[in-house]
Amino acid sequence: MSYMDRLDRSAPMPVKHWSFAGLMLTYWCNARCASCYLCCGPHRLEEMSVEEALGYWESLATAEPMGCRVHLSGGEPFGDWERLVELCRRAQAQGLGPLEKIETNAFWATDANLVHARLEELDRYGMGKLVISTDPYHQEFVPMEHVRLAARVAGEVLGEHRVQVRWRDWLKDGFDTDRLSPSQRAELFASYAASGRDRFNGRAAVELTRGQQLKAPIEFADYPCAERLLRSRHVHIDPQGRVMPGTCSGIVLGHACREPLGDIWRRLADDYASRPLTGTLALVGPAGLARLAEATGFVPQSGYAGKCHLCWDVRRYLVGVSGFSDELGPAWLYLDH
Ligand code: SF4
Ligand code: SF4
Repeated sequence: MSYMDRLDRSAPMPVKHWSFAGLMLTYWCNARCASCYLCCGPHRLEEMSVEEALGYWESLATAEPMGCRVHLSGGEPFGDWERLVELCRRAQAQGLGPLEKIETNAFWATDANLVHARLEELDRYGMGKLVISTDPYHQEFVPMEHVRLAARVAGEVLGEHRVQVRWRDWLKDGFDTDRLSPSQRAELFASYAASGRDRFNGRAAVELTRGQQLKAPIEFADYPCAERLLRSRHVHIDPQGRVMPGTCSGIVLGHACREPLGDIWRRLADDYASRPLTGTLALVGPAGLARLAEATGFVPQSGYAGKCHLCWDVRRYLVGVSGFSDELGPAWLYLDH
């Protein structure tokens, strides 16, 4: 009996209700952070229209049993200010429920009056929190002074308790990393990545694993991912309606453009164990997925910086393999870093 045949795929394992959902308004971003697990950048043009976003939002707000809290992300949602503000205004007018937060890298925060006016408008339309991303990778593309300005004005307009900065230590001491030489930047990124804040998924799996300590694939045996895939309560919906686990980009749990979110959740709870990719990752982990892939020709690298690095490498191979590709996407994510 093979390793995979010995799995008990009928063992009960509840899927937690999704209570937090991010609408990814776009894959476009002014930045191209080395840590970006969604491989966003100035060259990505995929977008979610206001009508599509409102449709998903309604599906999320009414999903059984208690609905999802919605946040807006990207890519960079402030890249199209008119769309962002129209979506917030119409969602509020339709009574779609509270907007938990909007995430940004603050690239647009060039002037205090502009920041003030935009945040007042979003506040009026129900935005709960502003989340500002800042770390060495973002500051290769976004001036630190924009981040500090956005954080300061947001504190004045919204109150400090409604401003979340990831990460505060970098906000205090950080600097523009585009001024570093390539070797200095590589050294800083490697030491920052070693702190474990970033998941080695997407572009991070390619760019941040250089210089990390690598372990043989066997070291990641028996690291099942049920907590991340089935119990995190957090999903993202991408511009084409793909429903993905909150942090495991590129794994497709369903399509919000084809069926209501509640139905996608119920189907996942019913059949996750029989799904070749999600079931294997949830029950066994990426080492189990690597074994499946090896049967179709996958050759693992000699070492990986973490289990997500291994997972990414296997999925990048499987995205073109029939039987797995339905659970992976968008395909370009695995090819275009
Ligand atoms: S991590 Fe955020 S700011 Fe950086 S490229 Fe990705 S979406 Fe843009
Ligand atoms: S190994 Fe794969 S499925 Fe597991 S947490 Fe990492 S990216 Fe997600």
